[in-house]
Formats: sequence, C-alpha cells, structure tokens
Amino acid sequence: MGSTLITPGDITTLAVDAIVNAANESLLGGGGVDGAIHRAAGPGLLAECRTLGGCPTGQARITGGYDLPARHVIHTVGPVWRGGAHGEAGLLASCYRESLRLAAAHGITSIAFPAISCGAYGYPLTEAVDIAVTTVCAERSKVTLFVHFVAFDADTLGAYQRRLAADAGKM
Ligand code: ADP
Repeated sequence: MGSTLITPGDITTLAVDAIVNAANESLLGGGGVDGAIHRAAGPGLLAECRTLGGCPTGQARITGGYDLPARHVIHTVGPVWRGGAHGEAGLLASCYRESLRLAAAHGITSIAFPAISCGAYGYPLTEAVDIAVTTVCAERSKVTLFVHFVAFDADTLGAYQRRLAADAGKM
C-alpha cells in the first residue's frame, strides 16, 4: 500500500499533493517550517488561514497550496514538549492520524511531513520519529499513499534512517 521515503531538504520545494505544516494554534504563521511555508506560498495562504479560526493541538485543517508546488497544505498543531507526562505522545500521534484522515477525505495520494514538534516545540527527536513512523504505517494500511518524511537537517535524517532501518521489510 503505497510507499515511504525519507526526503532530505526543504518541504516547500516538493511537488506532492499535500505538504504538512507544523503550525501553531492560531494558524496565522510563525517561525521554522511554518514561516518557510507561508513565505513560499504567498499571501493567499494567510488569507485562507484567517478564515479557519485556528486549530487545537492534535488536530488538522486543510487549505490550498497557492504559490507552492504542492496543491494543498495540511496544517496540524503539534504539542509543546513539557517533559512527556502531559499527553504529548498521544497528541503527536493524533497530528499524523488527523493529517492522513484529511488527506484521504480529499483524495490526496502523496503527502510530505516535516518532523512535527521537533523544532521550537522541543519534542525529543528519536521519540517523535518513532511516533511518526508507527502512526503513519498503521494508518497507511487503510489507504494507498506515498509518504515523504522530510528531514531538514542531518540529525533528523539520521533519526529517520535509524527508525526505518529497524523496520526494514515491514514498510
Ligand atoms: P515545531 O514548532 O512543531 O517544533 P518547527 O518548524 O520549529 O516546528 O520545527 C519542526 C521541524 O521542521 C524541525 O525538524 C525543523 O528542522 C524542520 N524544518 C524547518 N524548516 C523546514 C523546511 N523548510 N522544510 C522541512 N522541514 C523544516
């Protein structure tokens, strides 16, 4: 059922059906990947985001891609890491699940995820990558989907490579 790739580099350059944005609850832009996506998409994206009224942590919303090569942006709000005893793992898994649910509802067949919560939100990389891969693999058995895990830096790339190597043959 589809396939999974680790893709190094900048998510805003990918010509996929949807890229996922690690947004904040306002959906009105921010730093990191959120800022990069808004800069590359142009002002139309912010205008559409303003109509959405925000998004709670662990949920997702979909918009157009505007000037991006991707047709859609799926905005999801990852948890801020607060030590791990505040529901962070469940919320992070929910981000991946809800993004895939929206993708399926919109006929999306290729999707690219950044490492949600692993930048400013401080989620430990190895744990976050494990949740990303486990959740996507479980959900993807229900739909045919081409999934990119985008690694913006060497640490993220290494974490995905170690996680997928541990899973070799099961993906
Ligand atoms: P969060 O607030 O959810 O932690 P960040 O944007 O700070 O979101 O970081 C999430 C991840 O996205 C980090 O691994 C960061 O290195 C990565 N990232 C930043 N810019 C880009 C980009 N242009 N493409 C892909 N990933 C990116």
